[in-house]
Amino acid sequence: MMINIFEKGFNYSQDGPGNRLVYHLSGCNMFCPWCSNPEGMEKGGRQYSTDEIIREIQSSAPMFFDGGGVTFTGGECTLQSEAVIEIINNLPEIDFCIESNAATKTFLSVAEKCNTVIVDYKSPCAEKLKKITGADISVVENNIRNILKTKKIHIRIPLIHSFNDDDDSLEKFIDFFNSLCGDFDIEILPYHEYGKEKWNRIGKEYSVSDGFVSKETIKKFIETLKANSIKVIKT
Ligand code: SF4
Repeated sequence: MMINIFEKGFNYSQDGPGNRLVYHLSGCNMFCPWCSNPEGMEKGGRQYSTDEIIREIQSSAPMFFDGGGVTFTGGECTLQSEAVIEIINNLPEIDFCIESNAATKTFLSVAEKCNTVIVDYKSPCAEKLKKITGADISVVENNIRNILKTKKIHIRIPLIHSFNDDDDSLEKFIDFFNSLCGDFDIEILPYHEYGKEKWNRIGKEYSVSDGFVSKETIKKFIETLKANSIKVIKT
């Protein structure tokens, strides 16, 4: 089986615990205008056989220190679920993590095989999420509810001005988190422009003009979530 990857390399603690071999899989079902890996939004990259990747992981195992292992991210890694599952099934001794937008029908089949599951929950407002990113909120929320039945998960909110940093969104974020059963924590990722140059380089227009969130708003989000008994962490 083949797998499309646009970037791979080691990273310490940013994409799951410990030292990890991180595979960025090509293709995404969403089109977030702030995406820091726009080159991975389309199916492209380089094709590898799953056997090649399995061998690479086996030979890299001595590097997986401090609880490390392998992370599949993207793009959206669960779009290539069959290849990812084949790799995981062949390496039962390896610690696997996914970073996912949780907006695919194949999310659960991959997530339930992983040791660490990191998902984005970008907006609690169905219309805004659909219009700005293309995602269907019911798919995201069902996936989060279902994976929480068997696993602890880590949920990231990319906090972006004029998208999800208003009081109404904050209230809805809290309503959703309080409706969840299971073990999870939240991380707030304030807007940055690390990917902006990449958009220009690949000839795409970067359309976010006012994404930065004030320090006061970040503090308000963290404190209000905590005041509502929601666990907020910083990685
Ligand atoms: S879901 Fe992630 S990879 Fe996909 S477009 Fe949005 S930010 Fe980029």
